[in-house]
Amino acid sequence: MYSIGIEGTAHTVGVGIVDDKCNVLSNVSASYFPKEGIHPRKAVEHHADAIPELIKKALKEAKLSIKDIDVISFSKGPGLQPCLKLTATIARALALKHKKPIVGVNHCLAHVEIGKVKTGAQDPIILYVSGGNTQIIGFTEGRYRVFGETLDIAIGNAIDKFARSCDLGFPGGPVVEKLAKKGKYIELPYRVKGMDFSFAGITTELERRHKKGIKVEDLCYSFQETAFAMLTEAVERAMAHTEKKEVLLTGGVAQNKRLQEMLEIMAKARDAKYFVVPKEYAGDNGAMIAWIGLIAYKKGKAEKHQDTSIIREWRIDAVDF
Ligand code: AMP
Ligand code: MG
Repeated sequence: MYSIGIEGTAHTVGVGIVDDKCNVLSNVSASYFPKEGIHPRKAVEHHADAIPELIKKALKEAKLSIKDIDVISFSKGPGLQPCLKLTATIARALALKHKKPIVGVNHCLAHVEIGKVKTGAQDPIILYVSGGNTQIIGFTEGRYRVFGETLDIAIGNAIDKFARSCDLGFPGGPVVEKLAKKGKYIELPYRVKGMDFSFAGITTELERRHKKGIKVEDLCYSFQETAFAMLTEAVERAMAHTEKKEVLLTGGVAQNKRLQEMLEIMAKARDAKYFVVPKEYAGDNGAMIAWIGLIAYKKGKAEKHQDTSIIREWRIDAVDF
């Protein structure tokens, strides 16, 4: 059984094909990373141009024809409305033309589940960190629950904003990580509130200090140390409360080595297992959408075409999975 997944919630548009053991037969993508930050209409234009070729490329790499595909999966939300609408429209057109079943997938659930299936984690506390989301998640009493989350902007967004304000380019994460290696520590606001955290104040403070002439390397280092310590502290508390013995790091920011290191040290100290999503599935990608679509389809959850409208703000704790 094969599922094709179309991802397109924000900067990246991706197409992936998986089988029912989550072997990834292809996973191709194109990203729109403008200097001045994401512009939804331009993102849609970028994605609309890219998707037809990506679909062809994904099928070719998988050595399949569209006739071999059992289900069409697409990211139904959460995300930027124009991007979601485009992705859904293309998925519907594909499904109607080729008379295939269709499933709309929760993007956050896809980040979590691709992390689990690709690492072998069974019942982890999940730290999901990306450009648009920052949440601490765990499965209890029949569904995923959010134990902690950002009170304002996502960590990836905070890093990108800071990087843009220092002219470091976009996306900011990899550059900030590199420059941080040469920096020294300066104190920044540390904002953990119970199980939640906030990054907007730190980002403003960083911009203020940059204007005052503080070295960019020191700002990068201190930002990472402060923000990642905040996340690690809240994750540890979630593990203590739930008594879970695994932690899984997923989402685009999961590629950061310093964040990986902090979580690994914390897990070791608690006698817990540490897992991180493989790099190729960390950022937004079509394979993760294909995987959830396939699971849903097998559970009999294919959708009627009239039910495939997008859900712009769709929390993982509202998903029946
Ligand atoms: P996603 O939204 O899941 O596609 O992830 C994109 C986000 O991941 C962007 O905000 C990037 O800046 C961030 N990112 C990518 N690589 C790194 C890295 N090495 N360290 C920190 N953040 C990163
Ligand atoms: Mg994402």
